[in-house]
Amino acid sequence: MIFVYILFLLYASVSLQYHVPVANQYGQNLLSARDNEQDSRPNRIAVLEEPTNDIHPDQHDGLRKARLGERCGQGHKKCKAHLCCSPAGYCGMTAAHCKSPDCQIGWGTCDADKVPQGLPTKEIQRPQNGPVPYGEVIVTCKTSYTFAMTFDDGPNEFTRDLLDLLDKYKAKATFFVTGVNSGKGQIDDFSRPWGSLIQRMHYSGHQIASHTWSHQDLTAVSREQRHQQILKNEAALRNILGGFPTYMRPPYSKCDHACLRDVEQLGYHVISFNLDTADYLNDSPEKIQRSKDIVNKALSKPSPAGRPFLAIGHDIHAQTVYNLTEYILRRVNEAGYRAVTVGECLEDPRDNWYRWDYRKKSD
Ligand SMILES: [Zn+2]
Repeated sequence: MIFVYILFLLYASVSLQYHVPVANQYGQNLLSARDNEQDSRPNRIAVLEEPTNDIHPDQHDGLRKARLGERCGQGHKKCKAHLCCSPAGYCGMTAAHCKSPDCQIGWGTCDADKVPQGLPTKEIQRPQNGPVPYGEVIVTCKTSYTFAMTFDDGPNEFTRDLLDLLDKYKAKATFFVTGVNSGKGQIDDFSRPWGSLIQRMHYSGHQIASHTWSHQDLTAVSREQRHQQILKNEAALRNILGGFPTYMRPPYSKCDHACLRDVEQLGYHVISFNLDTADYLNDSPEKIQRSKDIVNKALSKPSPAGRPFLAIGHDIHAQTVYNLTEYILRRVNEAGYRAVTVGECLEDPRDNWYRWDYRKKSD
């Protein structure tokens, strides 16, 4: 009898051990545990879809916000903290929901909200050295027979091959890099190839310039957001190069008066172009001939002789990297031009292209 009683006690203690957490499943404590689990394992979508009717809305701020698959954005709710509001207005956590510039900032989280490691660059001195104006839109180069090819929106999976091609032709170019757009992750995340590609650009003699952190339209965001778009890309590039550029190109080439004053205060040259290759419109083997024709026509003009060119392209397009650029480099050589950086074509000494961060990491 005593033996049976002991067996019963043993059974009761074991079942109680397993029973207690199950009983708590509907309690408040488990909600916070569940949130922690979401943070550490963001792929567990099923957890997010569990019903939450059993919890009073006031118990958790997230419940007042839209959850996975629900509508978000103007006229709807904000997404729960770690969900992103897609361009179409749905909460989710895929790259399509979160990638900038289209993810809806302020209606959930976005790649744009990511922050580079290390000290902010805000306090670094920004003397306006050199002959090139600051805070004014520059559309043309200065030196005759220079051709400044610029590539926006990268680095990207094609950029390595583009650098090989430029090496082959001993050509120099300028890269207007973005920090975290198109779902590529942060450029200063060294588990990805972007940081080492940017270092390679630098050591190969190309120029690195800013195309902002997440490619937002600088005329459509608040002043604070505009500053963050510039400053966060600076910190990421500082983490890669030890400094950040003095040259920038605003996304969509949009920078109104207020934007120009801000970038002037931050010590930037604003670079536009006088030759649009229109590569982004012609990214197919059939259409890319149109971009070649544009370049050929520009370089074939009889006058004025040696007119310098500041050309725009994008290293995120396959046809640009694997077709158009080699054509441009050949035509540039044939026409007696030199493929150079923007800084060189503007006769700005290399020392003026960057601001170095000499602070110790612990300062
Ligand atoms: Zn762009």
